[in-house]
Amino acid sequence: SSAFQGQRIPRVLALANQKGGVGKTTTAINLGTALAAIGERVLVIDLDPQGNASTGLGIDRRHRAVSTYHVLSGEADLADAVQETVVPNLSVAPATMDLLGLELEIAQERDRTQRVRRALAGLPTGAESQPAYTYVLIDCPPSLNLLTINALAAADAVLVPLQCEFFALEGLSQLLKTVEQVRTTLNSRLSIHGVVLTMFDPRNNLANQVVADVRQFMGAKVYETVIPRNVRVSEAPSHGKPVLLYDLKCTGSQAYLRLASEIIQRERALVGAAA
Ligand code: ADP
Ligand code: MG
Repeated sequence: SSAFQGQRIPRVLALANQKGGVGKTTTAINLGTALAAIGERVLVIDLDPQGNASTGLGIDRRHRAVSTYHVLSGEADLADAVQETVVPNLSVAPATMDLLGLELEIAQERDRTQRVRRALAGLPTGAESQPAYTYVLIDCPPSLNLLTINALAAADAVLVPLQCEFFALEGLSQLLKTVEQVRTTLNSRLSIHGVVLTMFDPRNNLANQVVADVRQFMGAKVYETVIPRNVRVSEAPSHGKPVLLYDLKCTGSQAYLRLASEIIQRERALVGAAA
């Protein structure tokens, strides 16, 4: 049967790094698109008040009447927030600025860390042969705040984008510590899926050194695929499209397709290990 035998479906991956501008949102959009393009059914959950993943997937700000704010505050079911996107087999639960206030609103609630997990549990699963979603990607805000903790508490694994620049590793130990804390207190299933190096520029002498340093520090957790810095990747969101729809042939699109197949291979290896 499916490659997910013995595992929860959908697989829930949180894209997390408390640094801003490292490629979390870009990776949520384009990895999601690449996974959908190779046959997965994908849901992106936008947990960043900036809502850039929603915008990049073509959801106009005026069309976010039900958003992840309503889901996490308990006013709506996740299914009610989900919208189809310009990409077949890729849906998104959009975010709005309202999310900025959520942390304070639910700070005193006992289940404040369980809001995303509960929302996912209420999602229709579909038939066994035709699951509604095979992958859920959660785009986290640039902070280790309650929104990110909610994502980690609900996820099977964390995908960490790191920008190929001098301070790439700065903050990584804090992130790994937080993941470990969540694993021991809230979510024993949680693991690090992998580290994806982003915005690689071969003309930058330092970039190769950064790649080597990160591989030394994180070993096999680092995906082989490195996402190049590519202007088409940064242009695509202003057209409300993933780069794969904007320019399929560009180096950025091709890299995200390779990353998607690498991730699926890792999933199969996990299944093999469990069998
Ligand atoms: P984060 O979500 O971690 O804050 P983003 O995904 O929003 O980071 O990326 C930060 C900026 O870098 C955005 O303007 C985005 O368009 C740009 N960017 C991300 N990846 C690439 C890439 N591979 N090539 C060129 N620009 C990129
Ligand atoms: Mg972002």
